[in-house]
Amino acid sequence: MNSIQKQKGWLVGISIAMIVLGAVALVGGIILLVSGIPAIPAVAGILKVVFGGLLVLFGLVSMPLGIRWAWVGLALSATKGSIKQGNIAKEGGTVNMKKCDKCGTERKEGEEVCSNCGKKFE
Ligand SMILES: [Zn+2]
Repeated sequence: MNSIQKQKGWLVGISIAMIVLGAVALVGGIILLVSGIPAIPAVAGILKVVFGGLLVLFGLVSMPLGIRWAWVGLALSATKGSIKQGNIAKEGGTVNMKKCDKCGTERKEGEEVCSNCGKKFE
């Protein structure tokens, strides 16, 4: 297991935790808000509304972040570590690989003619 794979595991784990936490905070916050509003002149009601509002905000921020991170983590695992650390553009990584625009065959570094269809590269 290389360091990128470890990071992926962490990333996906943390982002799933963030999505779950965010959802719980959102639901809990809404419940607190709804139950606090009728009691609003009382300190308990105000505290409930303030705390509920903070929970809703936390949920609204952490859920999209979690989804984004999970997406990034899953995208990294989909390429099976072909994105090498600090070496993304080199060594035939899939990221910067150019393709023949006629047949779609992968174009290797320094190649002037397509190895499949013979089309000249500009
Ligand atoms: Zn070609």
